[in-house]
Amino acid sequence: MVSNDKKVFPKEICSHLKNFIFSFDKLCPGFIETNNLVYAPVIEWNTYRIKVNKEMETKLKNFYVIGDGSGLTQGIIAAGVTGILAARSIISKKRI
Ligand SMILES: Cc1cc2nc3c(=O)[nH]c(=O)nc-3n(C[C@H](O)[C@H](O)[C@H](O)COP(=O)(O)OP(=O)(O)OC[C@H]3O[C@@H](n4cnc5c(N)ncnc54)[C@H](O)[C@@H]3O)c2cc1C
Repeated sequence: MVSNDKKVFPKEICSHLKNFIFSFDKLCPGFIETNNLVYAPVIEWNTYRIKVNKEMETKLKNFYVIGDGSGLTQGIIAAGVTGILAARSIISKKRI
């Protein structure tokens, strides 16, 4: 894991991951065994948050960022809601 994770995760995440694994081994001796398979954790809420207004529009006019790519959501419903916010905003602009 140590050699492979460098290719997948940034250095900072690797060091947190290693700390977690070694700490967990103290709680649960034998956790660090070559026969054990540890699935990589989902790294959530580690993305950049793009600044948007309440309608998900960035400071670039007419440029919207929605869903998990905005760094503001982490789930299907919230991602969908941001899409609705942007869609409503776009539609309201078209009406003007
Ligand atoms: C393993 C796993 C389990 C999850 N379980 C849940 C759960 O139980 N409940 C829950 O609410 N959420 C869950 N989520 C999170 C949920 O899947 C996401 O929050 C949600 O899908 C985000 O929606 P999105 O539209 O922002 O992005 P996505 O669903 O990732 O959609 C982005 C789309 O853009 C496409 N794309 C990417 N780059 C390009 C490009 N350059 N050109 C064209 N298309 C491109 C991708 O192929 C993809 O189809 C889970 C996520 C994972 C990974």
